[in-house]
Amino acid sequence: MTRLIFAANWKMHLGPEGARKFMEEFMEAYRPQSDREVWFFPSAVAVETVAIQLRDRSDVRVGVQNVFWEQKGAFTGELSVSMAKEAGVTAALVGHSERRHVFGETDEETSRKVTALLEAGLTPVLCVGEKLEEREAGETISVVKRQLGVLEGLDPEILAGIPIAYEPVWAIGTGRTATPADAAEVHSAIRTWFGGRGADTGSVKILYGGSVKVENVHALVSEPDVDGVLVGGASLDPAQWATIASTSID
Ligand code: PEP
Repeated sequence: MTRLIFAANWKMHLGPEGARKFMEEFMEAYRPQSDREVWFFPSAVAVETVAIQLRDRSDVRVGVQNVFWEQKGAFTGELSVSMAKEAGVTAALVGHSERRHVFGETDEETSRKVTALLEAGLTPVLCVGEKLEEREAGETISVVKRQLGVLEGLDPEILAGIPIAYEPVWAIGTGRTATPADAAEVHSAIRTWFGGRGADTGSVKILYGGSVKVENVHALVSEPDVDGVLVGGASLDPAQWATIASTSID
């Protein structure tokens, strides 16, 4: 069984041409490993380019960074799940902290996106995480549980197939990383939350995100409760990303 997921969130970087060059260099540098998958979340205009380049690779997946829950219609600027699927996408980030805190996405909107993705057979990767003031007030676990609440009521088997990315807001793009022990503590609470809803906790994938880089990735993925990483800045250089995705685990 695949143990680890190394996921790259390119945010608002790399159009189709940049993505094509990136993938050429990455594929040259990265050797597939049976214990892991590499997932890419390019910009919406680059997903098809990446999907085409990766179509023969079962260890690599492509997703979008955001979707809208309606099927189609007068929603200027939005991207439907079926359009993403047609472009070769099999997953989507939902509730990334930049969506929540820059664009004001609510838990209710996150919930509608999760439902739309599941209905279309795509994998939502639900991002959760506390702000600095919430951590300092001792509210980390309660914030994360509130954000997980959008999955409440799902069939346990479906639940177990939804990866969670724990990304403390204060660690994203700041150079500050949670210690492996901090990450493990929250990951363990997330796994317990899944167990409480009947999901097979051994199958649930819980990724850590927040200033992951070559220097700290080994310690993070060596924690038994950390099933992979979601990486922004350090995933933008193909050689560096190949090194991160090739990290050995203890
Ligand atoms: C992210 O975008 O999900 C992220 C964790 O970014 P960074 O690695 O740059 O902190």
